[in-house]
Amino acid sequence: MTTTAADLIGLFPPGSRPDTDGTLMVGGCRLDAIAEEFGTPAIVVNEDALRRRARDYLAAFRGRWPRSDVAFASKSFPCTAVQRVMAEEGLHLDVAGGGEILTALKAGADPARLVLHGNAKTDEELEIAVGHGVGLVVIDNFDDIDRLERIVGAGRRQACLVRVIPGVEAATHASQATGHAASKFGLSPEDARAAIARIEAGSRLRLDGVHTHVGSQLLNVDQLAAAVEPIARLGTFEVYDLGGGLGARYTYDEHPPGLDEYADAMTTQARALLPSGSRIIVEPGRSMVAASACTLYRVTTVKRGVVTHVAVDGGMGDNLEVSLTGQRFEATIVNRVGGGEPVSVVGRHCESGDQLVDGVALRDPVVGDLLAVPVTGAYCYTMSNQYNGARRVPVVFTCDGDARLVVRRDTWDDLLVRDVD
Ligand SMILES: *Cc1c(COP(=O)(O)O)cnc(C)c1O
Repeated sequence: MTTTAADLIGLFPPGSRPDTDGTLMVGGCRLDAIAEEFGTPAIVVNEDALRRRARDYLAAFRGRWPRSDVAFASKSFPCTAVQRVMAEEGLHLDVAGGGEILTALKAGADPARLVLHGNAKTDEELEIAVGHGVGLVVIDNFDDIDRLERIVGAGRRQACLVRVIPGVEAATHASQATGHAASKFGLSPEDARAAIARIEAGSRLRLDGVHTHVGSQLLNVDQLAAAVEPIARLGTFEVYDLGGGLGARYTYDEHPPGLDEYADAMTTQARALLPSGSRIIVEPGRSMVAASACTLYRVTTVKRGVVTHVAVDGGMGDNLEVSLTGQRFEATIVNRVGGGEPVSVVGRHCESGDQLVDGVALRDPVVGDLLAVPVTGAYCYTMSNQYNGARRVPVVFTCDGDARLVVRRDTWDDLLVRDVD
């Protein structure tokens, strides 16, 4: 299949376009100017696209089910600037653990609009959550109940949801499936009933409802909507949290459901199975942020052999999606978009698996070129690491031709400060 420049640009954040000389622009900023100012590798976000997506998500659900809330799954892009955008646009925030509570609070989020997740919460994390007044704690296991009963002070009540394993085998990578019967997340329906009874028998927890989550990068709305029935069967509650999981479009031949199709499927199922006055929550991560960003690299070497390896100055230090989930990405040279011969784009790390894109067409790549990989807004920044002494990537927001740094790159000193002996 031949792909055109327009196909490729269609994977970049909405509003991306080539400048008059063909150099790709994101949020009205030339990618070569961004590389000049902030260096490479760098994650470049179109802030306006991010805001618009948040607004569209909320409208899609509120328009169909007025008592709905969208809780952004912070773990997919847990930096203060992104969490602030989501909070400003009226979203709740899912937080997985103490650290994401702290970045959310720094972002100015209302603690009452935080939903705490985790299958292995510690006393310390629950103390942070309760101490700051986190709105909902999602109970994953019986030990969560014991811990919370201890930590919540006398005379107070902590609102919570019980997480139920939906028993859905999601068609996605094994690392992204969370809803099958043997999942480590949540309780079986039978155990969930016992947990609900225990919470209701105590005095320090208030059971608001139930939660489930099927998996991530799901491309089939029926699998997503299958989350509703298992929690509907548990009884009548105030809140039904249906989880996240809608897939993003990473490649030309992936066609995930659109927002309207997804919201239709979820609310149709809700109308059939849930009490009409109840409140539903959805928790998108990937489908909220993936398409709003791209990662910018500098080509460091082009090695022509059995295959042509185009190596860049990043890799698995800033994108673990390829090796962890097998996700395919696309790529382009930023001032020669579309066309070219197939090459293998590899990273700088000491693993053969450190490949960014295998078999992607690049037009005449040479050392010093800038290369951009689209759809890196989800789970890339959050898993960035210092493998091989990599300095973790910065995040740059672009908007109407302005670019600003929202997370700085690690300094060389950052690589040394934790070594105390
Ligand atoms: C990860 C996660 C999400 C978000 O999943 P996406 O696939 O990124 O939409 C939502 N809810 C829970 C409980 C999660 O663990």
